[in-house]
Amino acid sequence: MTVWDGVPGQATVIARLREMVRRPVHAYLFVGPPGVGKEEAARAFAASLMCAEGGCGECRECRTARSGRHPDLVELQRSGAAISVDQAREVIGVALRMPMQARRTVVILPDFHLVDEAAPALLKTLEEPPPTTVFVVLTDTVTPHLVTVASRCVEVAFGPLTPDQIVAALTGEGVDTEVATRVSRFAGGRLDRARRSLVDVGIEARHELWAAVPGRLDGTGATVAVVARELLGAVEESLEPLVSAQDGELSGLAELSKAGRSSPSKTEVQQRHKRELRRVRIEELRFGLATLAGAYRDRVVLAGAGGSPGSPGAPGSLVSPGPPRSRHSEAAALGAVRLIDEAAAKLDRNPNEALLLQDLLVRLSGMV
Ligand SMILES: [Zn+2]
Repeated sequence: MTVWDGVPGQATVIARLREMVRRPVHAYLFVGPPGVGKEEAARAFAASLMCAEGGCGECRECRTARSGRHPDLVELQRSGAAISVDQAREVIGVALRMPMQARRTVVILPDFHLVDEAAPALLKTLEEPPPTTVFVVLTDTVTPHLVTVASRCVEVAFGPLTPDQIVAALTGEGVDTEVATRVSRFAGGRLDRARRSLVDVGIEARHELWAAVPGRLDGTGATVAVVARELLGAVEESLEPLVSAQDGELSGLAELSKAGRSSPSKTEVQQRHKRELRRVRIEELRFGLATLAGAYRDRVVLAGAGGSPGSPGAPGSLVSPGPPRSRHSEAAALGAVRLIDEAAAKLDRNPNEALLLQDLLVRLSGMV
């Protein structure tokens, strides 16, 4: 057993981190999408830095750090939408003090892409913490206001997990192998998404809806309108479990205030709900666009293999061997993938989602 057990996949990253434990620097930036093991790896890395053996997995430092209960391990818990200046000050206070029990103090800063005006406050301490303090900063992407922070850290990139790694992680949590294998197809390399898929009954149908789009587009605006409406409807449908959870939270809040107990303000909670909904909606659109790009990529692969992309209702499945597709259609499919990637990149910039999707479908409809 080692302290790295329980970190899903990421063998290359783990090997690199184990090497780094020997001569640690003052700050690391773990970059990668959610659900690929950044948090688990950060705690294991913290344990390794605190353990006298460099991460034996057995001692008190290792065990308490792995479970997040070590007095010299601080994980910033974001309460609002972004990391606030007050929270940043609190972190600085901890970072500046000497470790109480272990060899080092380790400060883990999750969701750092959400740090806003607090970034400058943290920068100085991140640059020159006491020699016993190590920062582990976690972020989904290096946003423009993180470039300076990134330049002060050693960057460690986390890629998506393979379906096999997702299956291994889920079966390790007691999920049936067959179920784990099925949801790993929709996970896009992310364990958090795979876990959610376990309770998301509609995900398979949504996956198929997006995958069927290339076969449905016929060059007419009328079809584009129908397809866009269906896709956006499916995105809204995927939000229903979250909406009902939010409704539940609001009524719980009303009960609390009726009973005269202290509770966060309703406006605050509603604002957070709005942000949560937007985040999940964007994520669902991203999932859809990735599925769509995958469907076009399948066409390229099949064209190369001389097969047919399948019937319009089931793209990606090899129902009957057809004539080899022309170079023209292969180039068109690659062009389509490029357009989809561009649209996905625009999702970060707060676009009108319906217009973005419609515009994309019009272009795709015109080229394939
Ligand atoms: Zn240990």
